[in-house]
Amino acid sequence: MSIAENIAAIEQTLTGTAARLVVVTKTHPVERLREAYAAGARIFGENRVQEMAAKQPELPADVEWHQIGQLQTNKVKYLAAFVHTVQSVDSLRLLLEMEKHAAKHQRVINGLLQFHIAQEETKTGLSLPEAEEILNSEELKNLRHVRLTGVMGIATHSPDEAVVRGEFRQLRQYFEHLKGRYFAQDESFREISMGMSADYPLAVAEGSTLVRVGSAIFGSRG
Ligand SMILES: *Cc1c(COP(=O)(O)O)cnc(C)c1O
Repeated sequence: MSIAENIAAIEQTLTGTAARLVVVTKTHPVERLREAYAAGARIFGENRVQEMAAKQPELPADVEWHQIGQLQTNKVKYLAAFVHTVQSVDSLRLLLEMEKHAAKHQRVINGLLQFHIAQEETKTGLSLPEAEEILNSEELKNLRHVRLTGVMGIATHSPDEAVVRGEFRQLRQYFEHLKGRYFAQDESFREISMGMSADYPLAVAEGSTLVRVGSAIFGSRG
């Protein structure tokens, strides 16, 4: 199937749900991103800073660029002029760096707190106490150019649906807890980014608002 057909098929499954599609474009050349754009995709996810910064000027300005891979503080400056959302916020230090660079460009960057929900040790992300430590810090109250808009997580790569579903449910519970405790009056804290090619239907069933799908659209990255 073509990129357009794959996007249409996924959009079909999202109709009537809370979820929007983030097209994960990492490793793919700009022509394929243009194809996705022509098929209606407007939210693109990349995990490497240099790659996103190189592609961004080649696409129309109404694309929302989401950083989905770990972001080193010394690279924030390359994204600050255009990135819409950093989905991989894992420290207060990173938020402060985002604030500094977003302020220089007089704009606001959205951030999702990335949680560790998988069994694999290698997957990065915060625990609930670590996230609350960030949210309780004094420095956070002074941020004017960073807005926390929700949470993100990567489930275990497993054929066991019960495991994966349980992890998505866990992330949703973290979201609900933080929403009630820190963001009850803040309508912009509303995103639960979970679900990839292999598991997005489960994530949507568990309340995902952003699914991040790459290989189901473009084929395997080889
Ligand atoms: C690569 C990646 C995806 C997309 O993975 P697919 O299996 O190709 O859909 C989603 N989220 C993150 C964080 C990624 O790095």
